[in-house]
Amino acid sequence: MQNLGRVAIVGGGVAGLTLALALKRAGFHCSIYEKHRLTDEGSFQKRASGFTLWSYAIARLIEWGVDLRDVGIELEQTEIRNQNGELIALMPVGDASRKFGAPSYEIRRGDLLAAILAELPPETLKTDHTCSGIREHADSVELQFASGKRVQADLVIGADGIHSAVRKQVAGDVPLRYSGYSGASGVTRCTHPDLPPQTHVDVWGRGGKAGMADVGDGNIRWYLTWKGSAESPKSLDEILARLEKWYAPVHAVVSTTPKEEIIQHSYYDIAPLREWVRGNSVLLGDAAHATTPFAAMGANMAIEDAWELATAFAETRSVREALQKFENSRKKRTEEIVRHGRRMSRLTQLHSPIAAWLRDQAFSHMPEKEMEKVAVAMAAGE
Ligand SMILES: Cc1cc2nc3c(=O)[nH]c(=O)nc-3n(C[C@H](O)[C@H](O)[C@H](O)COP(=O)(O)OP(=O)(O)OC[C@H]3O[C@@H](n4cnc5c(N)ncnc54)[C@H](O)[C@@H]3O)c2cc1C
Repeated sequence: MQNLGRVAIVGGGVAGLTLALALKRAGFHCSIYEKHRLTDEGSFQKRASGFTLWSYAIARLIEWGVDLRDVGIELEQTEIRNQNGELIALMPVGDASRKFGAPSYEIRRGDLLAAILAELPPETLKTDHTCSGIREHADSVELQFASGKRVQADLVIGADGIHSAVRKQVAGDVPLRYSGYSGASGVTRCTHPDLPPQTHVDVWGRGGKAGMADVGDGNIRWYLTWKGSAESPKSLDEILARLEKWYAPVHAVVSTTPKEEIIQHSYYDIAPLREWVRGNSVLLGDAAHATTPFAAMGANMAIEDAWELATAFAETRSVREALQKFENSRKKRTEEIVRHGRRMSRLTQLHSPIAAWLRDQAFSHMPEKEMEKVAVAMAAGE
């Protein structure tokens, strides 16, 4: 296609910003409407402290020209430990990523968004725009904002995350599914002898888990989960008391994080939607296929979505054809990953001590070759 007309992306998170960049590379213009204001650090919000981005997603960012030199850290290995800290498996991510041809990264969310924004024309992003809904007309789509403002577009992309306002008009009312787990995340300046550089340490506990990773510049990003209702956030004292018998670095990273910088989460996903496309509107990223963080794939999927959608626009002759091609190429794959996230949620947080012991035994006796295969599959996004 030569021209997409007026393209409006709702949401300037990973999906929205990477799509804008992919469109720019394909020669298309767009506007992004983001509800948050830009902070001095060039970021809008702190919904997550950061991500693991696998080789296949990093390869796309590099292809689009994102400068990752001062952002995050190349990941060499993932240690999987039990609650007491015993090593039960080691995933050679660095070797697998080199085989794929691009590194995997541990990266802070704000740093990633700022690096992508630096590649976009400044007028692309319109902050402080909370979309309240869209209305399809015969030959255009109207965006409605909480401020009362209205904008006409030829194509609308709902990249507004798990609580998407655009989704209702595209796919109807879709209830979120609570995973049974809540948690917290943060970033701290902390060194610990058991947290090696370029390493992600995953701690599979009983009824919860933790993850900690070097994200560069002496910072560690971490997250925690625990079983419980979605409405009962824990105080910092309760969190720390719960961690006293856990592998020591987990307590260390939480206790050195400034209290006001700890983010509380309730982990949800959504059931497969009937459709992602209605008329000239389409859903992307978590808005289309939100998953729990237990598979470490949500941001990776958002980047892959952006690549597929921009490619579909470049390779087809009409917007409707491109949107259908995009949905056909991504829907089944992302639904499988959402199911995988649910399986990983059960496996990594087994409540029964006997089941957890059996799991740890099985993993600690797994041949190295099997962990290499897992690492290769993660790096390649398979
Ligand atoms: C603790 C934790 C750890 C995680 N770890 C990983 C990991 O290791 N690897 C991985 O791949 N994924 C991980 N994820 C998941 C990942 O964060 C998400 O899947 C990813 O951010 C989805 O990107 P998105 O752009 O679709 O949505 P979001 O990142 O949620 O972005 C949506 C954007 O839309 C904006 N917005 C929302 N509503 C409106 C509105 N009405 N109008 C305008 N703008 C709006 C928001 O402000 C936001 O900027 C993790 C998540 C959590 C919570």
